[in-house]
Amino acid sequence: MNVVMPETLNKATRGENLLREDILSLLSLGKEEDSLLFKLADQVRYQYVGDEVHLRGIIEFSNYCVKNCLYCGLRRDNQKLDRYRLSESEIIKTGNQAAKLGLKTIVLQSGEDPFYTGEMLAQIIARLKAETGVAVTVSVGDRSKKDYRLMKQAGADRYLLKHETTDANLFSRLRPGTTFAGRIKRLYWLKELGFQVGAGNMVGLPGQTCETLADDILLLRELDVEMAGIGPFIPHHQTPLKNCVGGEVKTTLKVLAITRLVLPLTHLPATTALASIHPQGRQMALQCGANVVMPNVTPVKYRERYQIYPNKICLTEETTESVANISNIIRQLGRGVAQDYGHSPKYKEGCE
Ligand code: SAM
Ligand code: SF4
Repeated sequence: MNVVMPETLNKATRGENLLREDILSLLSLGKEEDSLLFKLADQVRYQYVGDEVHLRGIIEFSNYCVKNCLYCGLRRDNQKLDRYRLSESEIIKTGNQAAKLGLKTIVLQSGEDPFYTGEMLAQIIARLKAETGVAVTVSVGDRSKKDYRLMKQAGADRYLLKHETTDANLFSRLRPGTTFAGRIKRLYWLKELGFQVGAGNMVGLPGQTCETLADDILLLRELDVEMAGIGPFIPHHQTPLKNCVGGEVKTTLKVLAITRLVLPLTHLPATTALASIHPQGRQMALQCGANVVMPNVTPVKYRERYQIYPNKICLTEETTESVANISNIIRQLGRGVAQDYGHSPKYKEGCE
């Protein structure tokens, strides 16, 4: 059957600015037209950021969290979770192993854990950079501007702070004690301090509408982010949202593809969350606009305990194996693994 190209896709093909109503119309495309959207996002990805896929090794260095987000398995009130922290030397050792496997970026991620002061984090970042030569992305949630500054001065290149949802009421309901305005304020601090900034949202949160998703994409454009993490919400059995439905693969791919059209130069990961709800999740995302994969390089003995959502993949796989598997997936798609730092194309290559 011949599928007619919807006018909004023609508009995107011509490189015209997509308006909120255009994004809404793309979100509601039918099954046949979806494939046209995905194909176009894949072409735009190729045209703007090329065929290479950037690998970012993620070290989940602490699962302690002072926050109580309703969606997350690491939330403070989850008493069933066995908590752990990696020492500075364990983090450096893990970073070294990842660098030896050829990974050029290390993402330091944790729950919101004040045990690690700004100074401690700065020291870890400085050592990682000096001893391994990697680029460093930090993702440790809400902190003071002073802490962000310390991290930047220590050499951190990027910061990932997902905005989670643009619906301010939903945001405060899902993240008790915090506000959407507070999150946005921090994203602007991070920009001002010179980080390459990543935001992003979950797809399929309870109470989320197509309008919210359109606003999520528009916010990413407004912030002019260097990266955007877009993944499905996956209900966790030890959280208040355990009976919710969770995000769909198709909707997540659509949000990802439209984000590629709206932000052609932005790094977009094929998220672990998507790969955790569909065996071909990574492959599909890489063909719908994604150009980044984040292999888990956390020491295997801790991985089980960083279950922000259930059935997370790669819990038992050794790092060498994960990196080899991901590299194979990339090659099977006819793509290559990038050998550079993978800084935003908006910035000059080179790692200070
Ligand atoms: N604590 C930091 C923060 O919240 O920014 C960083 C770590 S947090 C575990 C990283 C991301 O996990 C969050 O930004 C959120 O989008 C995602 N996440 C948490 N619970 C999830 C769930 N149930 N399903 C999908 N993603 C989830
Ligand atoms: Fe903590 Fe981040 Fe999970 Fe919220 S999403 S409970 S801040 S780890």
